Order: sequence, then C-alpha cells, then structure tokens
Amino acid sequence: MKPVAFDYERPRTIGEAVRLLSESPDAKIISGGQTLGPMLNLRLVQPALLVDITRIPELTRIEETDDAVILGACVTHAAIEDKRIADPSHGFLAEVARGIAYRAVRTRGTVGGSLAHADPAADWLSCLIALGAEVLLTGLSGQRRLTLTEFVRGALDTQLEPDEILDGIHIPKLSKRARAGFAKICRKSGEFADAIGVVVHDADRRALHLVAGAVQGQPIVIAAGNERTPGASWPPPLESLREKLEQAGLGGDAYELNIHMAALERAIRNAQAS
Ligand SMILES: Cc1cc2nc3c(=O)[nH]c(=O)nc-3n(C[C@H](O)[C@H](O)[C@H](O)COP(=O)(O)OP(=O)(O)OC[C@H]3O[C@@H](n4cnc5c(N)ncnc54)[C@H](O)[C@@H]3O)c2cc1C
Repeated sequence: MKPVAFDYERPRTIGEAVRLLSESPDAKIISGGQTLGPMLNLRLVQPALLVDITRIPELTRIEETDDAVILGACVTHAAIEDKRIADPSHGFLAEVARGIAYRAVRTRGTVGGSLAHADPAADWLSCLIALGAEVLLTGLSGQRRLTLTEFVRGALDTQLEPDEILDGIHIPKLSKRARAGFAKICRKSGEFADAIGVVVHDADRRALHLVAGAVQGQPIVIAAGNERTPGASWPPPLESLREKLEQAGLGGDAYELNIHMAALERAIRNAQAS
C-alpha cells in the first residue's frame, strides 16, 4: 500500500515548524520516519502535511551543564550508541541504544521520535524515566518542561498539543558512584521488548529508581526514592518488587508477572556488575 498524497515542508527553525503545525490541523511531524513511515504506508495516519524537522539545527544540539545533558529531539539512537554525545550516564545510554532494532533503524530513528510516539515497549521511555529525564515542548504559547511520567498519559498517548514539538530531553547527570542496569526480554535481539527492567541507584543522592516497561500503558515506576524519601535499600528486596508489580496490575497474569520480575532481577544484576 502507498501513503495518501500529502504536502511536505522542511522548516529550518523551531518557530517555523510550530507555525506550520498551527496552521494545518492535519499536519504531522516526521523525524526519523522509522515508525511513521510504516504507519503512512498502511494508511493508519493520513496527514495533509508532513513537517520534516530533521534540518532544524537546534534539534540536533548537545548541551552540557554542571548537572545535566540536554539532547535535541533529533539526536539519533546511533549518535548515542557511538558516544557522539556528552554522556550523563557512565555509558548506560550507549548500552541501551545498542539494543534498539538494528543499525539501519538506529541511524535514522531519533530519541525525540521514540518518546513522542510513546510506545510502552520502547526502550528510551523506560530508561529515561528511570534516569529522571524531562522533556522540553515548544508550541505557539512558548516552552514547557515536563517529567516523562507527566508527559506520557498512556500507550501512544502524550501531552503534546497539535502545535507542539518535543524539542529536547533534559537528562540529569548520574553522580560518580551511581550504577544503572537495563534488561530487555524479547524473542530476537533488536526486537521490541516483551518486558523491560531498569534500575538506577545513585547512592550519593540517596536515589533508587526502578522501572518495569513494556507493560500495557505507562511504564510502572516501582520505586523512586530521593533525598526527601530516603530509605531506598540496595539491592532492593525481590519479594517487595514482586508485590509492587502485582499491585500495579500484573498480578492477574502469571506469565506477565514472571517475565517482568525476570527483567527487573537481570537489571539489578547488571547494575551491580557495572
Ligand atoms: C524494525 C524496527 C524495529 C524497532 N525496534 C525497536 C526497539 O527494539 N526498541 C525501540 O525502542 N524502538 C524500536 N523501533 C522504533 C525506533 O526506535 C524509532 O526510532 C522510533 O519509534 C521513532 O523515532 P523516529 O525518529 O523514527 O520517529 P518518526 O517515525 O519520524 O515519528 C514517530 C511519531 O512521533 C512523532 N514525532 C517525531 N518526532 C517528534 C518530535 N520531535 N516532536 C513531536 N512529535 C514527534 C511523529 O509525528 C510520529 O507520530 C523499531 C523500529 C523499526 C522500524
């Protein structure tokens, strides 16, 4: 099948892209096209206009501050895999990028496109939630900054307004002694996950973030200890993790519960070995 006919614009600034989106209610942003391409071909989406944002220099920016790295939305998975970005995570982001699909997809697919699509099985969503990342959204009324749990409302559902672009991702730097672990359970390597487990333990900040991804809706945030809620013990007791997954809705399905527990256990082991 082929896409329906559409107009195509390639703006050079975020402002111009926002204007195009606001003037055409049936417009759709395209970045890497790795998800949108097949959706267009299958006519699951039929936009009147495609706004290609990959030539906007600001969207490939890599900024570093004392405590964070800000990535433009069009930074590709391959750029992260190849460590062409300032790394806030002691190599953790590169390791995650390496497991996404295969190299051709990673060369074009973008971190902003992945988050904006909000597939519950996407790797960035769970990992960046565990790292405490925030997204920067720019629209006609200016810029706003949301945590990823605020941004994602559910499967394929976000807070993005029709005139808004996800323009960047703000990722806090891990402290020196922090450890992060990731595990993805899937049938073939490089495929979307059946279960994702992520753990980030930052003892200096007394923070422990555990996330179970590839669930039905938003990833399940199991623990998010910080300075105000200390006591996050390390390694976390597995029995209490299982209880929390059951309480979060996986209790009724023994298979789902077991693979998500297995992903979390592996993530914890990977963090300990890191
Ligand atoms: C064969 C295959 C295997 C894959 N395997 C995995 C995998 O294992 N793990 C994984 O996580 N992903 C996987 N993916 C998805 C891949 O990571 C894509 O990069 C990602 O889903 C979308 O990024 P994109 O830049 O291609 O976005 P596009 O396809 O261009 O856009 C996706 C959606 O997001 C919107 N959008 C894009 N950018 C923005 C923006 N900056 N602001 C607002 N809206 C925006 C678009 O309008 C569209 O609705 C796979 C894809 C393929 C084709």
